Amino acid sequence: MSESFVSAIGEKGCLLMDGATGTNLFDMGLVSGDAPELWNDEHPDRVLALNSGFVQAGSDVVLTNSFGGNAMRLKLHGAENRVAELNEKSAEIARSAAEQGDRKVFVAGSIGPLGELIEPVGTLGQEEAIKAFTEQALALERGGCDLLWIETISSQEELIAAATGAASTELPFVACGSFDTNGRTMMGISPAEFVEICLEMDVQPVAVGSNCGVGPAQTVAATLEMSNAYPNMFHYVAKANCGIPVWEGTQIRYTATPEQMFVYAQIARSTGATIVGGCCGTRTEHVQQMRSSLDQYRPMPKPSMTFISERLGEVFDTAPVKSTRKRASRRRTSKH
Ligand SMILES: [Zn+2]
Repeated sequence: MSESFVSAIGEKGCLLMDGATGTNLFDMGLVSGDAPELWNDEHPDRVLALNSGFVQAGSDVVLTNSFGGNAMRLKLHGAENRVAELNEKSAEIARSAAEQGDRKVFVAGSIGPLGELIEPVGTLGQEEAIKAFTEQALALERGGCDLLWIETISSQEELIAAATGAASTELPFVACGSFDTNGRTMMGISPAEFVEICLEMDVQPVAVGSNCGVGPAQTVAATLEMSNAYPNMFHYVAKANCGIPVWEGTQIRYTATPEQMFVYAQIARSTGATIVGGCCGTRTEHVQQMRSSLDQYRPMPKPSMTFISERLGEVFDTAPVKSTRKRASRRRTSKH
């Protein structure tokens, strides 16, 4: 299956992911504070409508509705014993959407953070974290996923625990970090360091990248830093939010138009990303535009930071590759 996913990238040049899960489920009636994963049981028709909408909009890969489907997150909703059921259902629903089309659409099992900090920064033990990720990963595999999609990761410990969980299955996996306004994850990892951590793993991801975070400019800058620091080491992913999030009362709104996501997809592709999609705020009309953007793409040189900020908005303090490498080697030295 790993070969089939990777060879599809080779054949098509670039695969289009889908858009937001949360944003679109809110449109369908999900209430803030509810666990979206419970809808795999309560409203499978709506989750199917979400996945099908993206298939129809042209996505090559759809994500399961399982981002928070681990025991720690589900415990907040008294559903920690339903990890297997809810993840299996999310995969089955996405699979039936993927098979509606007449082309190959991959089902990627979404695995998000546990919502608790892992030792030594937090109190959650590494073994316990690995156990939670493994339970979720195995359920997504049983439900029929083609690959696993680890995303919005900010700490090294969590990245390693999630990858270890994914490696307990037979499936290939992708690992994405979320890089914030300082060009690093919340826990201080730079994009280049994120790739280095993946390179040190026994079982490595098939693709590495950047998702969510702030806006398209920041996400593209992170993917560019990865592909510049380690060209051709991995397939790279850019999965940006649909513009910069803006608070309106108690709601977050994402500001990018479908046309802006068209431009974003072209620039993301030119960084060397071979998997491109949208994160929070991305609806089917944005995915349609990204589809035509990638279909019309003609090779262009890698963008400069100036070009990225002119087209996509401000890039906040992205650490130059040289200095992050120095930091990375310091990290390595202090480890031994
Ligand atoms: Zn997001």
